[in-house]
Amino acid sequence: MIALDGVTKVYPGGVTALAEVSLTVAAGELAAIVGPSGSGKSTMLHIIGTLDRPTAGSVRIAGYDVAALSDRQLSALRAARVGFVFQQFHLAAGVSALDNVADGLLYGGHPLGERRRRAAAALERVGLAHRMDHEPHELSGGERQRVAIARAVVGDPPLLLADEPTGNLDSASGAGIMALLHELHTAGTTVVIITHDREIAAGVPRQVQMRDGRVVADSGAVAATPALVTSGRAR
Ligand code: ADP
Repeated sequence: MIALDGVTKVYPGGVTALAEVSLTVAAGELAAIVGPSGSGKSTMLHIIGTLDRPTAGSVRIAGYDVAALSDRQLSALRAARVGFVFQQFHLAAGVSALDNVADGLLYGGHPLGERRRRAAAALERVGLAHRMDHEPHELSGGERQRVAIARAVVGDPPLLLADEPTGNLDSASGAGIMALLHELHTAGTTVVIITHDREIAAGVPRQVQMRDGRVVADSGAVAATPALVTSGRAR
């Protein structure tokens, strides 16, 4: 699903955020990227999510060589194959949970009725069927993050990237969000999470440790749930 080979990222101004990072994540894995602030975690997630291009090295996502794609093709790749979840939720204010999630399908050009129908199913999947008409300010932090996750998965992307998804939540809500990410992984989605939280990282099958723009430890790939592999559902 993800293959980074010798990836270096130097920002304008000269900061080397990633230094020759190589990392492979197989379809169906659930991995945590951990490390101190400034170690390059967000930069790596942006590059995996094709939101940014590396200065050097190769990036393959879902079988596509990112360097060979135009910005327009990358937008299409992201829209179809990558879901994003952020610490700050990034929901539109004054817009219902249903329409926040339905907006996750805007790129595909589906009619509004179909977007809303799929959004309702995604909200049900994250346990928020009873909150569809609520606007973000009427929801708790944990519920807002569930809406954000529903928006990220409404198009059924094979890859879900989460940048500190529990960073703004109390520990009970955070545990609920982690349980939901585990469920999505069990259902076949490849999930990569950035986290500062040691407890959360310890609960995830694979930990990739970053420091000074390098991978300094990697607990290694853990095969996707065997039942899913044999039934062909792991993607
Ligand atoms: P982390 O997510 O582990 O905190 P980041 O990937 O955000 O680390 O940052 C890695 C390094 O790159 C830091 O030194 C940071 O200051 C620098 N950096 C991040 N984004 C930019 C940017 N847009 N421009 C310049 N430097 C950046």
